[in-house]
This record gives sequence, structure tokens and C-alpha cells, in this order.
Amino acid sequence: MDKETSNAELHKETQTTEVVGKPERKRHPSMLEEQISIFNSLEYDPQKHARVLVLYTGGTIGMCWKNGAYCPEPNFLVDAIKRYPHLHDSSYATVFTPDVDLQPLVLPDCHEPKTILYYVKEYDPLLDSSNMTAEEWSNIAKDIYDQYEAFDGFVILHGTDTMSYTASALSFMLENLGKPVILTGSQIPIFEVRSDGRDNFIGALVLAGCYKIPEVCIYFNHKLLRGNRSTKVDNSAFDAFDSPNMKPIASVEIKIYVDTDSIFRPHKLNKFAFMTNMIQNVAVLRLFPSITASTVKYFLRDPIAGVVLQTYGAGNGPQKRKDILDAFREATDRGVLIINISQCSRGVVNPSYETGQALLECGIIPGHDMTPEAALAKLSYVLGKTEWDYQQKRAMILQNLRGELTVKQSRQLSIIDADLIEAVAQVMQVSSSEEMAALRRVLYPSLICNATRSGSIATLESLKSAGANLRVGDYDGNTALHIAATNGLVDVVKFLIDNGANIFAEDQWGYTALDNAVRFDRFEIIRILRAAGAHLKQSPTKIASELCYTAAKDEVDRLRSFYFAGANLDQEDYNGCTALLTAVRHRSVSCVKFLVGVCESSISQKDRCGFTPYSEAERMKDKDLMYILSHIPPKIKQTESGGKLNGSP
Ligand code: ASP
Repeated sequence: MDKETSNAELHKETQTTEVVGKPERKRHPSMLEEQISIFNSLEYDPQKHARVLVLYTGGTIGMCWKNGAYCPEPNFLVDAIKRYPHLHDSSYATVFTPDVDLQPLVLPDCHEPKTILYYVKEYDPLLDSSNMTAEEWSNIAKDIYDQYEAFDGFVILHGTDTMSYTASALSFMLENLGKPVILTGSQIPIFEVRSDGRDNFIGALVLAGCYKIPEVCIYFNHKLLRGNRSTKVDNSAFDAFDSPNMKPIASVEIKIYVDTDSIFRPHKLNKFAFMTNMIQNVAVLRLFPSITASTVKYFLRDPIAGVVLQTYGAGNGPQKRKDILDAFREATDRGVLIINISQCSRGVVNPSYETGQALLECGIIPGHDMTPEAALAKLSYVLGKTEWDYQQKRAMILQNLRGELTVKQSRQLSIIDADLIEAVAQVMQVSSSEEMAALRRVLYPSLICNATRSGSIATLESLKSAGANLRVGDYDGNTALHIAATNGLVDVVKFLIDNGANIFAEDQWGYTALDNAVRFDRFEIIRILRAAGAHLKQSPTKIASELCYTAAKDEVDRLRSFYFAGANLDQEDYNGCTALLTAVRHRSVSCVKFLVGVCESSISQKDRCGFTPYSEAERMKDKDLMYILSHIPPKIKQTESGGKLNGSP
């Protein structure tokens, strides 16, 4: 019985669905924007709340049974979610606004440190994922880009059939991703009693909101898989996805276990960006023993630009079929990129047989252990990079760009590893390899933090080569990046970012490395972190309160730090007061001078009693301030990387 039939059968058995009735009303498109602006309300607190944007593209998870088939039903899911107490805490939601339409959805307490607030953006039309194309991938990528700073993570509700393709494509299209993007769906619609959709959805929300896994993943049946390693393996079991060449990144059981070592660490972080120029002239060619040369030649004709060649075993092809090999050679000479991946779902392409060598000699690039979905997506992405020439594109296919292939790492034992950890192990009488691994996990974070504090990049390098994960925090959640930012260690910050540090990691008080750099006025570090994509996470109103406090104390460097970190210095605090007005009231002359150079609206803005900064200075009879406020200099341009760092405005 295939899945459609089994679902139909099941539907008949489960006529009494938990949710009945029609949608209450159609959501208007600007509602999401209005809802997001509620985030800036007084009650939203980033230390207590995690924000997740749900992009609902379609798929079985939201389908209804109509005219003898499952099809997506527009404007249905959100109203249904609101009626499930496991998916929405309606009384908590009223804290944010009494307007039911503008309230966030609130995931009831699930014993995580933060409460998850989520918003659903429903696509029009909703699609069965078999109808999805690169255009839909681009829409998703753009939506994530547009809302990147407003959310801690993203969940994509998607049909299972092409979920691995979308996950693979997004993993390449979303460049320098620093936040979780988790695709999920279900085998049975969420409205039905036996649905797997509720568990999948809740797990994805929790992982996207509370776990800093900056990757595109698939969450299904209690497993979090790297998206570009995943593949749909079963069309009727709940355990529908697997990543045959990689263990799950996390498993959701009574506790949530995250294998932090397996999280992809990029070599360099830049600002988050997205690429949509995915080349569509790519295809899969699966060898079989009597394939004809004319089929192969026909397949490789223009306009094909990239081919995923599925070969036998460890990457073997018919070395004695000169006609076929000639066709391959002729295509690669024309600039067609051909990647060799195995027809076996497990294992690596390894040209150690003559038959594998023959393909290599035709210019075919070994695809290591990539899935066909990842290889296709990588080809589309690499071919779309107009700034790379043919040789660079070939080199990029071989490289591990997003964790899509396994690169063998030689593990050298360093002095630290051999001496210190083993000495401790001996004293503690640690003998088994499991105990030894546990000991390393406990000791490495302290060693990393220590080495960071003393600015020793050499020690950090040696710890890394011994297998330590430089992203992991100590008992306070302080990561090496936090410490380096606090202490103004510019080179260490650069080293950590180049080695995959997580710029959004929070310590136990919710502070990121950027918050620390601001609190200690580390201008250069703020610039580096901003260039790597970091941004402030506090609500604008809360930042404005800090700005006012800072202005009152005339701490002009702190104002500069906030400015370089991307804060809006025109923002009003809870009382409708701006930093400039506060600076005037407290006669903070250097702050007033700085603020008039960078502020826009607050220069003429009235507070609740009708005072502008100038009228306030006049009332205070402060001639110096009146002079400064009536001689506004031209605005300093905020640079891409976080502002003008040298000199003051
Ligand atoms: N045909 C559906 C889709 O991919 C299957 C599913 O969601 O499970 O949209």
C-alpha cells in the first residue's frame, strides 16, 4: 500500500479529526509585518523569548481530504494551530497584545530556557512539494533574508517528497548562515488524530528557537539531520528521512541530545547573504550495465551544464567502454561539470580501482559521499557563481562548502592533549575510551577559554587539532568568542571567526559576543563581528533605554559602540524620550555633539510634553547646547561593516 492509499485508508478510519470547521477569516498580507512590530513591544524580552518564523510552503502537514485526494487548504493551518493547546498557549499570547490577529503563536512551556513565540507566513499558492521549483527556493531564501535579524530561527513547513532537494539547495543558497533553518513536514496531516505532524512541528520549533545550530536541517521523526546529507528513504513510515553518510546532528528524546562536534563550522564568516542564481541545466545520469553511447551523448548535449553521474560501488564506471568515456571527455572539454557519486547510498567515491581512475581521467570530479540531491544543488549553485572561472568551479565542487561531504581530518595528538588531559585521566583513573572522551568534553572548554584569555592563538590551534570544538561554551555559556570580544583581542576574534565560531552564541545571561564588545567599547571588534553578520538582539525600545542611560552619564564611547553595532540612535525609549533629548537634559555635551552628527529624526522630535532638544536647551538657558543644536553638521555615513570607526563626528 503506497502512502497516498494508506493515508486515504487512514483518513476513513479517522473521520473525527481534532479540528473541524472552516477558517475564521483570511489573513491579510501585511499582518505578518504588523505582528513582527509587536516584537518591539514592552513585553518581548530576548532573554526569555525565542522568536521563530515559520514559512508554510505546503505539503501533507497542512493538507485536507477533498474530492478523494489530499490537497493543500489555504488559510486553514493557523486557525487550526490556535485551537491545539499543545501548539499554542492562547492566554500567554494576550500578554503581547489583546488583538488576537496580531498575537504571536506561543509554544506552551516545554522545559527549555526560553518560551518560543512564532509567526506563520503562509505561501500563496500552497504547494505539494512535487510542484516546487528553484523559484520557490528563491522565495524562501529571500523571506529568510528579509526577516533574518527579527528571528532567532526559521522553520519551513514543506512536503516530504522534495524536502531533501529544497534543504540541499537552501544550504548553498543561504551564505554565511548563522541561525537554524529547519525543514519539517509530516506523513499524516496535522489535523488528523494520528498525525506525526504535531511532534515534527514542535521539535522543529524548539530546535530552531532554542538551539544554536546554524545550518539548514531537516527535522523528522525525532532526528535532526543536516539538510544536504538527507534523503527521503520511506514513503509510508514515520521515519521517512535518513542521512546515510552522517549521524544525526541531534536526537529528540526525553532530553534533546545535540552532537555539537558535528555542527558544521565554516572557515570564514561574512554577512549573511543569499544567492538565487541557481543554474537549472543540471541532471542526474545513472549508469547501468548496457547503457548506450548514443544515450549518453544525447544526454550530454547542449544546454546541459552540469551532470551528477551515479556510478557503481566506490565510483566505478565501464573503463572498457571507450565510446562512453569519449562522450564524457568531450563534454568535460566543453566545460560541462560532471560529478561522480555512487549509486550506493552509503560510502565514499574512491577512485582506487582502474574503473574509477578511467572516469577521473575523463575530467569527472569525485563527489566523495554526497547525496544526489546535494550534488545537484551544489552543481546549480557553483555553476551560478559568475565570479568563478571553470577551474575555480571545479575546485569548489571538491571542497566541503556546507558540510555536504566528508573530509578526512588527520588527528594529531598535541602536547596539551597528550600531557594534560592524559595526566588528569591517570589521576582520576579514567580508563575507557568513553570516559576519556567525556573528560575531554569537560576539560576542553576551560582550556579553550584560558588560551583565549591569554591571547594564545597557537594554543587554540593546537587544541583544535586535538579535536576540541572552539564553539563550545564554558559552564556560564561563555564561548571563546565572548572572552576575546570582552578583552579586545582582535587577532583572536579574527582567528575564531575564521574557524567557525558562532557569532550568535549567548552566555547564560543572554549576551552575545557583540553585546560584550559594546559593553567594553571594543570598536574594532564590533566592526569585525558586524562584518561577520552579527547584530544586536535586544528590542529597539530596550536598547533606547540603555542609550538614554548612557547619554545621561555622558558616556560618548558607549554611544559610539551602540552606533557601530547597528543600533538606531533615533529610537525612543519607554517614555518616548530619545538619547539626544536625555543628553541635553543632563548637559552631556560630548554626547550631544556626537548625536547631532549621527541622528536624524530625534533632532527635531518632540517628547510627550512637546519639548525638542533645542527648546529644552533654551528652557535650560544653556547657550553652548543651543549653539551645538543649531549648527547641525552633515551626517556621517554608516559603513556596511558597522560605521566609521576612526575619529568622532
Ligand atoms: N506529496 C506530498 C508533498 O511532498 C507528500 C508529503 O508532504 O509528505 O507535498
